[in-house]
Amino acid sequence: MSALLLDGKAVAAAVKEEVGAAVADLDYKPGLATVLVGDDPASHTYVRGKRRDAEQVGIASIHHELAATVHQDELLALIDSLNTDDGIDGILVQLPLPGDLNGEVTVERIDPEKDVDGLHPFSLGKLVLGQPGLRPCTPSGVMRILDHYGIETSGARTVIVGRSFLVGRPLAMIMSERGADSTVSVAHSRTKDLASVTREADILVAAAGAPGLIGADHVRPGATVIDVGINRTDDGLVGDVDFDAVVEVAGAITPVPGGVGPMTRAMLLSNTLSAARSRRGVA
Ligand code: NAP
Repeated sequence: MSALLLDGKAVAAAVKEEVGAAVADLDYKPGLATVLVGDDPASHTYVRGKRRDAEQVGIASIHHELAATVHQDELLALIDSLNTDDGIDGILVQLPLPGDLNGEVTVERIDPEKDVDGLHPFSLGKLVLGQPGLRPCTPSGVMRILDHYGIETSGARTVIVGRSFLVGRPLAMIMSERGADSTVSVAHSRTKDLASVTREADILVAAAGAPGLIGADHVRPGATVIDVGINRTDDGLVGDVDFDAVVEVAGAITPVPGGVGPMTRAMLLSNTLSAARSRRGVA
């Protein structure tokens, strides 16, 4: 039997509609600054999409492009000026940065109030403490898809493959916090017998960046499979999940493309709205 397709594009469209309606109710236009360094084609594509999304929902998109040769101090000076610019509610620095530029130092320079990517240590600290704050976009997008399709996380056994600070670790925190109440395991490249671990999952999230890593043997029949992976191969864009095989075993599955990717972009808009409201004291 074929799994239910979890349509990230459709859920992202619903999020965008909600954000657009909320923005229209504000008496000011929120601003999202994007900072793009160098000429990596994938980064350019991502940022173009984020800017287009922002404009579609009524958020002003302020874009800064810097050469790959830019000095770290110049990049930090730009962040400083965006931090103090009252028209800017969110700052997104597209990662990874090229060459010797330090992504961690750069992200740490962002005013945490404007950290719409949710990757500043302050935002991640709030997450660990279980306090409200700006959450990383991809994990938030995963939660929103599950919520949209009524997939119960409470009491569910969740296995996340990947332990990056961008996806795996924050998602593990979010999934296990009060309210989501999932029992979470995090697997990684040193995990022994990955298939035996992933087969325990009611909800299996693949965020490894390894095409075809998750096959039918890795999935318990009826499980929900969320594929975060985005891998550029000769066959085009693929996830970490062998979709054709797993779709026959899983109960529900996200496609790539059209699954988590659009959700990540949508949650950036949602975070920008939250940052704008919070900075301007709107409930
Ligand atoms: P990352 O920083 O490279 O982390 C990858 C993680 O996967 C690491 O923890 C690594 O283990 C683990 N891993 C790698 N190969 C493995 C294997 N064969 N078996 C078990 N674990 C393995 O990557 P990331 O930034 O988290 O991104 C992961 C994937 O998600 C990439 O394909 C990326 O493009 C994609 N992504 C998608 C979105 C979206 O919006 N859909 C957003 C962000 C990222 P170790 O820690 O042991 O090395």
